[in-house]
Amino acid sequence: MKSHVKAVVIGGGVVGCSVLYHLAKAGWTDIMLIERSELTSGSSWHAAGGFHTLNGDPNVAKLQAYTVQLYKEIEEISGQSCSLHLTGGVMLADTPERMDFLRLAHAKGRYLGMDTELITPSEAKAMFPLMDETNFVGAMWDPVEGHLDPSGTTIAYSKAAKKLGAEIVLRNRVVDLTQQPDGTWNVVTEQGTVHAEHVVNCGGLWAREIARMVGVELPVLAMEHMYLLTEPMPEVEEFNKSTGREMIGVLDFKGEIYTRQERNGILLGTYEKACKPWSPVNTPWDFGHELLPPDLDRIAPSLEIGFKHFPGIEKAGIKQIINGPFTFALDGNPLVGPVQGLTNFWCACAVMAGFSQGGGVGLALSNWMVHGDPGFDVWGMDVARFGEWAGLRYTNAKVRENYSRRFSIRFPNEELPAARPAQTTPLYDTMLANNAVMGDSWGLETPLWFAPKGKEPKDVVSFHRSNDFGPIGEEVRATRERVGVTEIANFAKYEVSGPGAEEFLNRLMTNRMPKAGRIVLTPMINEFGKLIGDFTIAKAGEDRFMIWGSSAAQKYHMRWFEKHLPKDGSVRIHRFDQTLVGLSIAGPKSRDLLQKLVDVDISTKAFRFMDFREMAVGGAPCLVNRITYTGDLGYEIWMAPAYERLVYKAIKDAGEEFGVVDFGMRALLSMRLEKNFPTWFRELRPIYGPLEGSMDRFIKLEKNDFIGREAAAKEQAEGPKLRRVSFIVDAADADVMGDEPIWAKVSKDYGTVEKPHGYGAPRFDTSGQEIRGSKAAEGASAVRGIVDGDWRVVGWVTSGGYAHYVQKSMAQGYVPAALAEDESAGLFEIEILGSRRPARINVEAPFDPSGEKMRT
Ligand SMILES: Cc1cc2nc3c(=O)[nH]c(=O)nc-3n(C[C@H](O)[C@H](O)[C@H](O)COP(=O)(O)OP(=O)(O)OC[C@H]3O[C@@H](n4cnc5c(N)ncnc54)[C@H](O)[C@@H]3O)c2cc1C
Repeated sequence: MKSHVKAVVIGGGVVGCSVLYHLAKAGWTDIMLIERSELTSGSSWHAAGGFHTLNGDPNVAKLQAYTVQLYKEIEEISGQSCSLHLTGGVMLADTPERMDFLRLAHAKGRYLGMDTELITPSEAKAMFPLMDETNFVGAMWDPVEGHLDPSGTTIAYSKAAKKLGAEIVLRNRVVDLTQQPDGTWNVVTEQGTVHAEHVVNCGGLWAREIARMVGVELPVLAMEHMYLLTEPMPEVEEFNKSTGREMIGVLDFKGEIYTRQERNGILLGTYEKACKPWSPVNTPWDFGHELLPPDLDRIAPSLEIGFKHFPGIEKAGIKQIINGPFTFALDGNPLVGPVQGLTNFWCACAVMAGFSQGGGVGLALSNWMVHGDPGFDVWGMDVARFGEWAGLRYTNAKVRENYSRRFSIRFPNEELPAARPAQTTPLYDTMLANNAVMGDSWGLETPLWFAPKGKEPKDVVSFHRSNDFGPIGEEVRATRERVGVTEIANFAKYEVSGPGAEEFLNRLMTNRMPKAGRIVLTPMINEFGKLIGDFTIAKAGEDRFMIWGSSAAQKYHMRWFEKHLPKDGSVRIHRFDQTLVGLSIAGPKSRDLLQKLVDVDISTKAFRFMDFREMAVGGAPCLVNRITYTGDLGYEIWMAPAYERLVYKAIKDAGEEFGVVDFGMRALLSMRLEKNFPTWFRELRPIYGPLEGSMDRFIKLEKNDFIGREAAAKEQAEGPKLRRVSFIVDAADADVMGDEPIWAKVSKDYGTVEKPHGYGAPRFDTSGQEIRGSKAAEGASAVRGIVDGDWRVVGWVTSGGYAHYVQKSMAQGYVPAALAEDESAGLFEIEILGSRRPARINVEAPFDPSGEKMRT
């Protein structure tokens, strides 16, 4: 065993071996994988070996597609077979709602380069004759599905990595990790200490224990999972003989069941409602190649549905029941990336579908370690997406909820109840008393909308407009015509201070820093010129700046800030979290209201648009911004939580004469739509350049040498490939949710239709082959369903909804820049729930296009 390496990967399951292979492939060959036992000694050996591409997050779906196409490559390099069976598979819908869900998934596939197809239950039965098709209303076919040999695949990765120069040390447990003053690590193992620049936690079932060695509690939990194998079935053998094909994989949402052919019988697994965590607090180190006792009673309700839906299977004898543990994060997606607060400590954990996702995880992580960036939009699996609130008990409740809903529909307006309320502000009870429907905003209870008095404050979940539509409209109209107040405690808030603060921010941000008492809006971009943040910054003092950003990105942004902090201690960063809370008031009467609560002049000239001031509001010391996300005259008022009830009551009392109303996050988002304002994580993400995001006026190339300046200059010189545009949609009773395809009737080719996935991201054709260079364009247009006569899919929706004040259904999305700029380009349609609705680009914000109201 070497005593010094560039990187140590802990864990020889499928994920660790994939990370090792990808690091070696990227050129880091001085690397070592350390496994406490033999390879596959966690979950990997007893997996059902199924793989598929569909994922709720299109970016994760794309990485799953990469994983599938990788198998041929590692087989070739290693000489080890993965026993790949690319059978294809169907997802069966038993209700119209589920069919809507499949239509949405199919529509997304149009610009992701996926080749799914909507088919009838009878067509599905022709490929899986054991089903009773009368239980279903439709299905979606995905050719990129199948199964493989889990152990063979893990070994193929490991052999391929070894061929490239990586070392694998078996039967050697990592017992401790200690960080050296220079940021490198001492990896203490049973066989001695290895010094490494980087450490990667691929501990699978023990990922939590490894993270604890460095003082981190990862939000990951193992769940017991069962699948059964039948005796050989004559129906299967007969099908194979008569068609010359294997039976396909089937996913039955209603039964929470997946099933497929295994040898000449059937494999059937369930995600049962009565799910059971395994080793919820500590994973025993002596757990080996073991299975857990089967518990048929637990999966009996799923099996009952399964046998009704697949009567052919009921008749077969059960040969074996496998019950094994594997890990999940709160939302079922992996935890990947550098852990905030630590140097060179990386994670590739909670990979619940290692054989669908392992390759993509390995590629993204190796890119990140070697090139400083994952190279893809990996937010959906970034370890930074959960906060400190996701502790052991929170994780336990949320993982159980997620497991039991694995195949359930998540409606766009659906808030899930487990582990809530976790964090509350002092106004929580007041908001409930005001009949607020609360939502979870990065672990914090936040008012979404207010139900009318006498009505139960509860969302009726739906893909269509729902019971919040009327009340949100009321909140918006009252705010736009009088004044409204909303709680904005969920925004991210930071203070950057010290003699180097301004220089530091100027290096990170694309816009100039404000003068004292002023505010600027600024994007933040990475070295590749992609958007990684969007902030409001106020200069609060000589060496002090206040920063507001996206709530969910707090750890993501802190990680970036910390990475770039000067080593000389001249800059300090503080993340407030809930130690600073906020209220926003907006609407034409908001100034009159605020003036009643403060002892300073806040007239237009004395307190201008984009001014920042410290002032007492209702007697409480506050920071006040003259800006709001409503795009109206308005203010954000920030205070310590101890003052929040006082300030809120003062606003409500003083506002009575103006008819002040409460409004929630959904009204706020509706108002931003009619101002064409983008949102972080929807319109603005690290796959877009700032010009593509139509953030041109915030990019000041001439100010100084900021991170990404060169790339931004290149984007400016060459022109953006895409453009964020806003649409008005002729919708019926459903508005866009995000990720819908945008169609255009075009007479010429305006360029790319496939969603970028990051710089240099691999793209695939429908057989899983990577498409390179000029072939990429051909490959994209070859994808089924993106051309229909003169119409073609030209882009994708990022978000939208109903803009209540202007009474229009609106959407924002990306289309090729040449098309966005060509006024004669013609007609657009946006596909909502499978139906193409007329849409038109809307250049000027429909509400107050000149911005006069907010500047008044
Ligand atoms: C019943 C069942 C069916 C499944 N079916 C499928 C399926 O059909 N498709 C699919 O994609 N996935 C399936 N899975 C999930 C799949 O098994 C996991 O996604 C995958 O195995 C995770 O791999 P991993 O490498 O992250 O973790 P693991 O396989 O748990 O590997 C972790 C490794 O780290 C080692 N290790 C831990 N701590 C240390 C330490 N301190 N020092 C050294 N080594 C250490 C362990 O010994 C272990 O070998 C299934 C799982 C189960 C239980």
